[in-house]
Amino acid sequence: MKSKVFFTNFRASPKKNLLDKIRTLYLKAEFEKIFDESDRVAIKIHWGEKGNTTFIPVPYIRTIVDEVKKKCANVYITDTNTLYSGERKNAIENIRTAAYNGFTLESTGAPIIVADGLTGTDAVEVEVNGDYIKKAKIASAIYHSTAMVVVSHFKGHMLFSFGGAIKHLGMGCATSAGKQIMHSDVKPYIDEDICKGDSICIRHCPVKCITLKDNKKAHINQDLCIGCGECIVVCPHRAIPENWKTSSEPLQCKTAEYALAAIKNKINKVVYFNFLMNITPDCDCCDWSDNRLTPDIGILASKDPVAIDEASIHLFNKAPISPLSIMEKFVDVQDKLKTLRPKIDYSIILRHAEKIGLGSRRFELIEIN
Ligand code: SF4
Ligand code: SF4
Repeated sequence: MKSKVFFTNFRASPKKNLLDKIRTLYLKAEFEKIFDESDRVAIKIHWGEKGNTTFIPVPYIRTIVDEVKKKCANVYITDTNTLYSGERKNAIENIRTAAYNGFTLESTGAPIIVADGLTGTDAVEVEVNGDYIKKAKIASAIYHSTAMVVVSHFKGHMLFSFGGAIKHLGMGCATSAGKQIMHSDVKPYIDEDICKGDSICIRHCPVKCITLKDNKKAHINQDLCIGCGECIVVCPHRAIPENWKTSSEPLQCKTAEYALAAIKNKINKVVYFNFLMNITPDCDCCDWSDNRLTPDIGILASKDPVAIDEASIHLFNKAPISPLSIMEKFVDVQDKLKTLRPKIDYSIILRHAEKIGLGSRRFELIEIN
């Protein structure tokens, strides 16, 4: 059966601005019907790394919060701590970064809670009995919510090719230990022919497992590497290839199984927004934002995380490539994600998510003006 995915484009007018369009989407998708007055509703967002400028802006999040609050008093905004170095490694830095990027109680209308606590260890173990994950370590303030709105920024990603609802659920609702388990099969290596020995990756590696050899080429100690992928993103010369022939499949499948764990105690109590705007090549965990790959496309709403991601890819592939973006040299591109990262089969996460019952890849797109 096809899952319904509601879509509104980014056109606005004096009669209807984009905040009005979000309200319309919320009503048309009948999201208010899933909430009870007594619910504790987690609004799961990504408030962006410090230096990133393309996360979903506050007014859009505020609009969603205000809609949910019409029915439920106990609404909070949440995200988890990161695995990698940066400005969101613990709750203190994380809340500070959220405020720097504009996300506060005053601006969003909801308290900001770091779901896995001060040090990223507040977990509840959830049984999934998947092919890869038997018990998932879900952030406690997400587990203890009774309903959830998952608001995802659709964009490119260095490990998954794209980041949407499934990845946001799976990786974004896990504690640091859970994130590490998902990443544990990812083992990058240095292409010595390309490496310039400028040590940028060494400075960014969170576990300090990269050293400079006598020949001034970087070297990764594979035994210590936690597979966070940060070195791949920060290397300005692309000397750390995306070697995902073997490592991408378990990463994607584990993430889908974690996504299932994140909503397991809230079946039929979770809804999804995907924002197809500022679609950058890399994710909002990067402390920079490259120019967008396409013009802003629109906003999607669905009760199915698999269908909303599949629909997002469909719309992204139909959109024109933006001039002055990293993809501007490409013409007649059928599959932008594949063109951007040819070694990653991004369909693995969608196929596995569907197989384990997270949702359906088949969707019916319902356009709302
Ligand atoms: S950032 Fe890239 S070029 Fe610089 S040392 Fe690391 S691998 Fe080599
Ligand atoms: S070597 Fe790269 S992937 Fe491994 S831990 Fe360091 S930054 Fe992360």
